Amino acid sequence: MGLVVQKYGGSSVADAEGIKRVAKRIVEAKKNGHQVVAVVSAMGDTTDELIDLAEQVSPIPAGRELDMLLTAGERISMALLAMAIKNLGHEAQSFTGSQAGVITDSVHNKARIIDVTPGRIRESLDEGNIAIVAGFQGVSQDTKDITTLGRGGSDTTAVALAAALDAEVCEIYTDVDGVFTADPRVVKKARKIDWISFEDMLELAASGSKVLLHRCVEYARRYNIPIHVRSSFSGLQGTWVSSEPINQGDKQVEQAIISGVAHDTSEAKVTVVGVPDKPGEAAAIFRTIADAEINIDMVVQNVSAAATGLTDISFTLPKTEGRKAIDALEKNKGTIGFDSLRYDDQIGKISLVGAGMKTNPGVTADFFTALSDAGVNIELISTSEIRISVVTRKDDVPEAVRAVHTAFGLDSDSDEAVVYGGTGR
Ligand code: ADP
Ligand code: ASP
Ligand code: MG
Repeated sequence: MGLVVQKYGGSSVADAEGIKRVAKRIVEAKKNGHQVVAVVSAMGDTTDELIDLAEQVSPIPAGRELDMLLTAGERISMALLAMAIKNLGHEAQSFTGSQAGVITDSVHNKARIIDVTPGRIRESLDEGNIAIVAGFQGVSQDTKDITTLGRGGSDTTAVALAAALDAEVCEIYTDVDGVFTADPRVVKKARKIDWISFEDMLELAASGSKVLLHRCVEYARRYNIPIHVRSSFSGLQGTWVSSEPINQGDKQVEQAIISGVAHDTSEAKVTVVGVPDKPGEAAAIFRTIADAEINIDMVVQNVSAAATGLTDISFTLPKTEGRKAIDALEKNKGTIGFDSLRYDDQIGKISLVGAGMKTNPGVTADFFTALSDAGVNIELISTSEIRISVVTRKDDVPEAVRAVHTAFGLDSDSDEAVVYGGTGR
């Protein structure tokens, strides 16, 4: 029996009852002979509440202080969980990210893990303890300041620790029974996926399926750590994410043509209006955005109006970066040269993901047909080898997701997808 890393999300430890339930589950794994490291998120919506609080005292809170504040959320759950485990008669010790050896760069609010040195965790395990680690946080190698890994970052903590400790599996416990063909909160007929490749999971996560964080899947693929996504509220097998299909009992699991439909309403669209149609303009716009450390997603340049020689360039970005992007562009308006800026946060993105797309003609046509039959207007399009994404009005997203899910034959005919907890916030 080897070492397992288990990660429990906010909805699994939302209250005292939840913490006690999770403690029992961890103790079970220990009793089965495993060494157990449990990574925890903040309780329920604590992180959102702390952000709201910070914004009440300062509209754009200082990154360093915001990180200091947010890491408190995970500290609360780690200490309570260790207490609950001790109360069951087992030894447990809690550790902050910094104590667990999670070393990051110094970009506050979205730091990247650059190394994990889990000496103290190893020691604690060797002494027979269960080790509890606060997710989503680390310490900067350069500044020694406390950092956070970005929303949903506990998933990455778990996989990074699993890699550093050479765990046999990283179990991600959440409020649904696994990865489904669409968000079960939107599509009641979504189907649980038994196995999904790292590649398809990466695209789903990057397209907004927040059940796993994109960076965590990237990390798992790089170190070849199998992930088992499952519910902390049920005993069911969940979804395996790994490089090769797995056998489940006597059932051989195969690669699906289409893995699923993802949606994302966390982005906004910026349109730079009246840009001179000459070389260097796009470079100037996106250099400005990059210098502000903002990641963008889709980009489109409209056809230039012949009469004026001017064009419009639109791009999408996380809503949370909207203010910063507009400020940066306004500041450089003179040097870039454009007429005005438009900001639209009422957009949504729908993506169809599947490796089978490469070899099955007509997927794109069927996708657009499904959207048009549902009366959904498309504003932007982008594709990769195994994904097609469109931007639509935000209000159209639920309907569009369901229409595409049905059109590609993904609806399950029996079990309704269960959501056990969480507010979906
Ligand atoms: P946790 O607090 O455990 O980290 P999250 O809220 O981050 O949980 O992720 C779980 C949620 O992800 C689910 O409640 C579900 O609404 C959402 N989700 C989005 N897409 C999917 C999908 N394809 N399969 C399963 N869940 C999904
Ligand atoms: N508590 C953090 C968040 O809500 C990190 C996490 O849950 O993974 O984003
Ligand atoms: Mg999460």
